[in-house]
Amino acid sequence: MHVPSQTLGEVLLDWFRRVARRLPWRETKDPYAIWISEIMLQQTRVEAVIPYFERFLERFPSAAVLAAAPEEEVLTMWGGLGYYSRARNLQQAARMVAERGRFPETYEEILALPGVGEYTAAAVASIAFGLPYAVLDGNVMRVMSRVTCDFSDIGSLATRNRLRDAAQRCLPPGEAGDTNQALMELGATLCLPRDPHCLLCPLAAHCRARAEGVQNELPTKLRRPATVAVETALLLIEEEGRILMRQSASGGRMAGFWELPEADAMPGVTATEEAHRFRHSIMNRAYRCTVYRAKLPEPAEPPPAGYCWIERSRLPNLPISTMAKKALQTGSRDR
Ligand code: SF4
Repeated sequence: MHVPSQTLGEVLLDWFRRVARRLPWRETKDPYAIWISEIMLQQTRVEAVIPYFERFLERFPSAAVLAAAPEEEVLTMWGGLGYYSRARNLQQAARMVAERGRFPETYEEILALPGVGEYTAAAVASIAFGLPYAVLDGNVMRVMSRVTCDFSDIGSLATRNRLRDAAQRCLPPGEAGDTNQALMELGATLCLPRDPHCLLCPLAAHCRARAEGVQNELPTKLRRPATVAVETALLLIEEEGRILMRQSASGGRMAGFWELPEADAMPGVTATEEAHRFRHSIMNRAYRCTVYRAKLPEPAEPPPAGYCWIERSRLPNLPISTMAKKALQTGSRDR
């Protein structure tokens, strides 16, 4: 049996240092600049990000400058990259960094910044500070599922954790940043979703999927059940600052959570006006909800069986379902 003389991480690093594209955020160790690049790269291609990154850094060279800038200007500089919540989060995070006087230096502190998830925190922590955190994006998942020949569904948390652990074991001491980038680059350029370029791949001798000839069958992505569209009408029945609600019965997924009544469950109630509409997804159900202001038939007391009047002021302290929260965002009429 062939035993590779270098570890997988060392092979990756050698390859990456030979072939790595020159990108402006790879020319710096400034955590602020690396963080900006990672946020920009979240949903945008590398080539598209480069000019934005350069202009943005020229105008906002530090967290303090970004924090102090008018929001309109930040959004304007971001214009074209889309997903404007990223720009707003970026400025909010820059204010936190500016207040603190330094960029956070641990994974947990970076993760606590608005707009930063596990992937971005691992990328910034490893690239800017050399901390040993493996990144796990779609490219890395594909490479690691093939290298380890893991046929489990990559939609499952257990599989993702296992692939992250496998990627983590690849990180040579002190080289987490470049190794993470190498894995992502390999997934983006050689270990493609279809017909990976195994003959050119530095990991060919380490790759179990290739050895077994099953690389095109990986990763496994189980199909989600088809989405079911559901129309629903919710009633906002409000009197003197109190709202009629019902607590979900024990035993169900939402047991104990407070809900607004559904129109179908209260046939005697009169809707007075449409308050607003929103969409909401639960598992494979896509709800289109219409919220109606409504009145109970006279006399209004006592409430129908199973329902209670809840003071609006108590709502922040009660478990409220997300659907009810969205429905209640229409605000109060008689506060
Ligand atoms: S050998 Fe092929 S399947 Fe395996 S990591 Fe390399 S490109 Fe991907």
